[in-house]
Amino acid sequence: VKQKNPIVDIKSQINHYAKMKEDEIAQLKKMEQYRKEFLANISHELKTPIFATQGFILTLLDGAVNDKNVRDRFLKKAAKSLNALNILVEDLLTVSKIEAGEINMEFEEFDVQIMLVDVLEQIEQKAEKKNITVTFEAPNDDPIYINADYNRLKQVVLNLVVNGIKYNKKNGWVKVILEVKEDIVTINVKDNGQGIPEEDQNRIFERFYRVEKSRTKKQGGSGLGLAICKHILERHDTSISVVSTKEEGSTFSFDLKLLNDTENEDTEL
Ligand code: ADP
Repeated sequence: VKQKNPIVDIKSQINHYAKMKEDEIAQLKKMEQYRKEFLANISHELKTPIFATQGFILTLLDGAVNDKNVRDRFLKKAAKSLNALNILVEDLLTVSKIEAGEINMEFEEFDVQIMLVDVLEQIEQKAEKKNITVTFEAPNDDPIYINADYNRLKQVVLNLVVNGIKYNKKNGWVKVILEVKEDIVTINVKDNGQGIPEEDQNRIFERFYRVEKSRTKKQGGSGLGLAICKHILERHDTSISVVSTKEEGSTFSFDLKLLNDTENEDTEL
């Protein structure tokens, strides 16, 4: 039997540990880069509504305040920018808390259709303003029970429907379609809006990623909505996907497990 050479052995061990350290350093560098980019993005995103508000106030101070019509117009614009800033800060807090694992999901059992009716009620006005029809389709009238965090899941569907309205033309439509197969319910949010170019489709779930920045920026939003959706669904052990064709529309979908009959009986006891 060939004797092991202790020196060769030590050398290979040292190489092994050196490689491990190198990987660790590379990982740390990557994280640092990620953190820097995140901070740069946040600063940039915060500056936009802050500068806008500042601009409106300076215009008022410059004399616009003396004309009632002009004053009201600029005050409304300032209020709108501050509202955008508020939404952005709230979304930032949500995303950073959820990524740090600081948000606990509160699971409960409910009929997913009740939640969808709730969503539709909430977006009614927004949809009417743009003359967009939002409808909801289910296989039949039976309740579809799931175990999920009601408010967070509602936030996911709300974000998707709002995007379907936002990135759509006047008189467009958004459909929320439920499909049930065996023990899975699939929730599809479909629109006939502007669609998403293929090269952007797997990046839109990243924080702050927007398709054609200048165009989508005008439509408002924090660029965090889909990142939040992705995280919430991960916490429900599922994932979101998109199928989209430019100028034709998009469909965002995710699956959830149905509660089986025995589980339902348990809850009714
Ligand atoms: P935002 O606040 O910009 O809407 P999101 O994270 O919700 O941020 O979406 C990221 C980007 O994905 C949007 O800026 C938009 O370019 C694109 N997008 C999302 N949903 C749709 C949709 N239904 N149709 C077309 N583009 C969409």
